[in-house]
Amino acid sequence: MNRSAVWHPFTQHAVEPDMPCVARTGGAYLETADGRRILDAISSWWVVTHGHRHPAIVEAIRSTAATLDQIIFAGFTHEPAERLATALTTLAPEELDWVFYSDSGSTSVEVALKMALGYFHNSRAARSRIVVMEHSYHGDTIGTMSVGARGVFNAAYEPLLFEVDTIPFPVAGREQETLDRLEGLVRDRKAAALIVEPLVLGAGGMLMYPAWVLAELKRITEASGTLFIADEVMTGWGRTGTLFACEQAGISPDILCTSKGLTGGSIPLAATLATEAVFRAHYSRDRSRTFFHSSSYTANPIACAAALANIEVWRSEPVMKRIAALSRMQAERAASFRGDRRFADVRCTGTIAAFDLHVESSGYLAEIGPKLRAFFLGRHLLVRPLGNVVYVLPPYCVTADELDQLYDAIDEAASLVEAAA
Ligand code: PLP
Repeated sequence: MNRSAVWHPFTQHAVEPDMPCVARTGGAYLETADGRRILDAISSWWVVTHGHRHPAIVEAIRSTAATLDQIIFAGFTHEPAERLATALTTLAPEELDWVFYSDSGSTSVEVALKMALGYFHNSRAARSRIVVMEHSYHGDTIGTMSVGARGVFNAAYEPLLFEVDTIPFPVAGREQETLDRLEGLVRDRKAAALIVEPLVLGAGGMLMYPAWVLAELKRITEASGTLFIADEVMTGWGRTGTLFACEQAGISPDILCTSKGLTGGSIPLAATLATEAVFRAHYSRDRSRTFFHSSSYTANPIACAAALANIEVWRSEPVMKRIAALSRMQAERAASFRGDRRFADVRCTGTIAAFDLHVESSGYLAEIGPKLRAFFLGRHLLVRPLGNVVYVLPPYCVTADELDQLYDAIDEAASLVEAAA
């Protein structure tokens, strides 16, 4: 191949080794052009749920493409979008009656923030502050970086980021500090919304907190009329053990963002679900109250058909059973690392397991990250640690033997890290 012209995401090309070229995908595997089969232990950045190229989803894409391609979604509608919206409002937590389509996790969050601001603007209430949780990640656009953790990822863009109020991550045993801080921040009724990743903060290091804290966060926002935005871009579609993580706290957010697993991880699509109240605030004969957001590829019919096929897979196959079995296997294998001095922390929520390795310097840019990635790739495993945090977030078709292979490799990697310390 001649020199590539591709500028890859989150990639420092000056130090990146040659990249495998993936020629085919299937189930839990990526197959490279040079014949390697690589086990996808992170579901290709957390998108693939059932497995790569689920036949029913592939067929829905193929057959829809025969009759529909992109159509303008203002002033027009189409059946896949209509059917999908109905299905989503049935599946999502109660009270989320409206579905606004976009095309990535970041845009679904941008839409959520704009809905929250539009809600108060149109209600003539001077509320525009956003409350966020420490260590959160909500995307890489200017708006979503503003509500995410500040650090090396966004230092260059800091002058453009807007100010937010931050509640501490609810560290085990100190949850009340988080709740008290939120109470304090929403008391003056200046906050428009709290945005959180429910139960698991993904890119922030697979940090986990219990459902009762999520329920308390919702209670506090509700009492002060602050909107509650659940960013379920990563946690949705079964990752935490239930279809949406919010279910475990028995809460229904005012706005919910979903993407990644929405199409089973096959093609891009996102949706922001909102309550009747949020919709009503934009509903008026006064056209200045319109929700002014669109993107060219909004509600792409092929992507909507893929999402409908994904939902049909959830209905017709024992997906919840697979998730329960995978969650059990993860918990059992992770338990074998508990109390092991090579690990600073071992944790699981649903199908996600994460392990912090004891290292001198931690954080995303820790030298250990790329070394571990290379180590795993050498064993034909796609594991992409977040600095010193190694995590396993596989598609639901992964087998017990494949998990054993992964855990053996993590065991070996932890020993090498310890020996090198
Ligand atoms: N929100 C959360 C919780 C995420 O984990 C991500 C991506 O990892 C995003 C938003 C952004 O999604 P996308 O990369 O599709 O823009």
